[in-house]
Amino acid sequence: MRNPQSGSEFSLSHLLDDIRDHVRPAFGRGRVADYIPELARVDPRKFGMAVVTLDGEEVGTGDCDEPFSLQSITKLFALILALNRGGDEIWTRVGKEPSGTAFNHLAILEAEQGAPRNPFVNAGALAVTDYLMGRSADVAGLMAGLVRVSGGISGGQVNEAVALSEQATAHQNRAIAHILKVHGTIDHAPDAVVDAYCRQCALEFSVRDLARAALPLAASGFSPFSRETIMPARLARRVNAVMMTCGMYESTGSFAYRVGLPAKSGVGGGIVAVAPGRGAVAVWSPELDRVGNSLVGTIALELFVQNAGWSVL
Ligand code: GLN
Repeated sequence: MRNPQSGSEFSLSHLLDDIRDHVRPAFGRGRVADYIPELARVDPRKFGMAVVTLDGEEVGTGDCDEPFSLQSITKLFALILALNRGGDEIWTRVGKEPSGTAFNHLAILEAEQGAPRNPFVNAGALAVTDYLMGRSADVAGLMAGLVRVSGGISGGQVNEAVALSEQATAHQNRAIAHILKVHGTIDHAPDAVVDAYCRQCALEFSVRDLARAALPLAASGFSPFSRETIMPARLARRVNAVMMTCGMYESTGSFAYRVGLPAKSGVGGGIVAVAPGRGAVAVWSPELDRVGNSLVGTIALELFVQNAGWSVL
């Protein structure tokens, strides 16, 4: 792989192409999510990666323009919407501590009286979705709108087959939502909250869209694409902090060790990472490791950070 320090040959575009070639031997080591039946239909060998910088550079490789299922990556945009709507109000329902447990863990929620550890585990995300339902009947639409204005893009939509597929099998999430209701953490009916959450998770965008939409988090909340302030600078910093500490489920520590950037993953195989002051990078590779993060995507980000020198640590 080329070394950025070695001189004029370095370019982000070459780096991404090199990474695409380099990760190939890792295909087959992970498993595509199949607990949502419709997600199991994706080609496991898909690989796309895109980078956008504050200097105005934008590069992509592989399947970087193919929409894929964002799944838990939507929790990032949900948090931004919630903070923009009510400031610190959301923290009365949801904590901001790492969970150290699986994203859909139930027992800890019951033990802690229905108070989710953070907005990126399912319990916390369901509470955020419930909160946003107080603002709009179409939470997925609200989220898609935020992604579009942040990234200056026009595409993206809910994959209705994926949404229905998860709604039909979301027994664990329904159990979580009922515990939340028992403790008064959510206002709406548990099943309505789960259905809205599944639609939000079924949003599809490409990694190029995603990197563009995450750029305001690297730019003190400002979108250079739409020239709009998406969130105040202090909120961008706080969202990055929650990503850094809670974004990769129970692998958050080892991800920080390997990659060193605030990031958020989803079981569709996407990961988006933010380098404050520099740019945003997104990767998609559907095969997951044992905690549900993209296996090849994590390797790709590790290679990217090593070679581009983007780690915040
Ligand atoms: N919709 C998925 C679920 O709730 C999202 C999980 C994820 O992407 N980690 O199970």
